[in-house]
Amino acid sequence: MKVTAYNKNLYQLTQIGIMNCYLVREDDGFTLIDTVIPGAQKAIMQEASKLGLPITRILLTHAHLDHIGSLDALHVALPEVPVAIGERDARFLSGDNSLDPSEPQVPLRGSYKVIETKPTQLLHEGDRIGSLEVINTPGHTPGHIAFLDTRDRALIAGDAFQTLGGVAVSGTVKPLFPLPAMGNWYKELSLASARKLLALQPTVLAIGHGRMVSNPQSVMEHAIQVMERHLAKKEVRK
Ligand SMILES: [Zn+2]
Repeated sequence: MKVTAYNKNLYQLTQIGIMNCYLVREDDGFTLIDTVIPGAQKAIMQEASKLGLPITRILLTHAHLDHIGSLDALHVALPEVPVAIGERDARFLSGDNSLDPSEPQVPLRGSYKVIETKPTQLLHEGDRIGSLEVINTPGHTPGHIAFLDTRDRALIAGDAFQTLGGVAVSGTVKPLFPLPAMGNWYKELSLASARKLLALQPTVLAIGHGRMVSNPQSVMEHAIQVMERHLAKKEVRK
């Protein structure tokens, strides 16, 4: 895997050029955020050990296969390491693909897969795991969450945004890399979540697909405007 250090606390691990997971340094080891597709467990563990710390927690931004793919194998290799995901998306991991009555009744999109691993902790808005704060960011999936590092306001945003093929709010089709948009569940919520993330004034935007962007306010703003115009056009056509 390709390893890109943002600073001493945040490392991006990239699989085949298109999928990222992250190692966040804490006093007791690395927090791994997301696990890319199946088969990456050895590479992820090797990179962590080269960087000199064990993986002591696993967090997931959402339940899509390209984020949870190597979780079962990692859990077998590291059975004592706690695994946490937002409470809403946890249901998908056990095969419950129902929508709540309060949610937009639009079909789920993207790849969901039932897995063996049972999360040891279900996360909610405002929870703290080490230095990271949980931010609810529904839209890409119903229970998508992001993580804000409270030490330096680094934002690990999962698929709420993408930067591969251009910076975009999830749901905006980027022809060079349309995958996140194809897997997006509900654009109106993606837009609201994107605005919420911008308001956090992150110092770096670290996402599931594409390079990290430092001082990302202006590109996030622009991506939000593109999505706003897209949804406004849709509204006129109705
Ligand atoms: Zn993804």
